[in-house]
Amino acid sequence: MSRFFSSRFASLAPYVPGEQPQDQQYVKLNTNESPYPPSPRTRAAVSDAELARLNLYPDPTGTRLREAIAARYGVKPANVLLANGSDEILSFAFMAFCDAETPVAFPDISYGFYPVYAALYGLAAEEIPLRADFSMDVDAFCASRGMRVLANPNAPTGMALPLSEIERILSSDPDRVVLVDEAYVDFGAQTALPLLAKYENLLVVRTYSKSRSMAGARLGFALGSEALIRDLETIRFSTNPYNLNRLTLLLGEAAVADDAYYMENCKKIAATRERAAARLKELGFTLTPSQANFLFASHPAVSGETLYSALKAQGVLVRHFKKPRISEYVRITIGTPEQMEVLFAAIEDILKGDAACAPQR
Ligand SMILES: *Cc1c(COP(=O)(O)O)cnc(C)c1O
Repeated sequence: MSRFFSSRFASLAPYVPGEQPQDQQYVKLNTNESPYPPSPRTRAAVSDAELARLNLYPDPTGTRLREAIAARYGVKPANVLLANGSDEILSFAFMAFCDAETPVAFPDISYGFYPVYAALYGLAAEEIPLRADFSMDVDAFCASRGMRVLANPNAPTGMALPLSEIERILSSDPDRVVLVDEAYVDFGAQTALPLLAKYENLLVVRTYSKSRSMAGARLGFALGSEALIRDLETIRFSTNPYNLNRLTLLLGEAAVADDAYYMENCKKIAATRERAAARLKELGFTLTPSQANFLFASHPAVSGETLYSALKAQGVLVRHFKKPRISEYVRITIGTPEQMEVLFAAIEDILKGDAACAPQR
């Protein structure tokens, strides 16, 4: 920290992203990206003619993309907010709906950015412990003060809540915002979107980073009541009205038009997940029931940290969290069937105890 850094950030611990090695030497199963590329039609959206227009600012209202997303999900463009990844939406929402009087509540085990934004904005954070089986304590959520934030399915467990439980949280206090982070919903969980018409306090947050194969493009959106979206737009226009560049807007529109391609990929990934879960169970792993594009797994014979390092030594990157309650687990992103075979071979080696003499992949 330099002597210039504001003292209000003195104790800020920034978010630590998963490793992003910039070479191809790993089978990368650590940050929940899609193993499949964007569709050919999506890729064709960035033409040389469009590149030539980069001298011009993008549309700050992102109207064409907002209209396309609104049509896709059966809402009005005024119910849609666009942002530079869903992380930016989380940032806007924590800024817009919380303050010294209104804290924020989220599970003790969930997406690592929630406590970071709470600290960044100086908010009181109410961490609601998941139960021993990592299920959500919905009653505790209903009793919490402040904005309620939950990922559904949750990360890094992949466990999902049914719509009826989300509705219970929404109706427990219509004066508090409920932010449902649906980064992984298209891999098999129930979306809260049908509740939008009934609950003005619901904000559903989505990202193109996982199910839409576009982590590198940085595109997220939120769906909510016009009242909530207006507030978020006030924050957005007070932060960076050009938060989405011209190319990302075009990619987003093309991806909405090619929705069937992406939903088909989600189905493929969910099927790979189910086969991988069965295989890991045969190998003695304990798994949470994941509905996301990753598995959360622990093994009685090898610690989470050892598994992470041994896999890395064999050229397979997974995610390990040095955090109470989950340090014995690793989170494994679902890759292609071929990538999963490399993972299983490495795990079998490690469990045999001969990982040290195995050749580097
Ligand atoms: C990956 C992820 C995000 C962030 O997604 P971006 O759109 O890439 O910023 C948000 N929430 C959860 C739960 C995630 O796993």
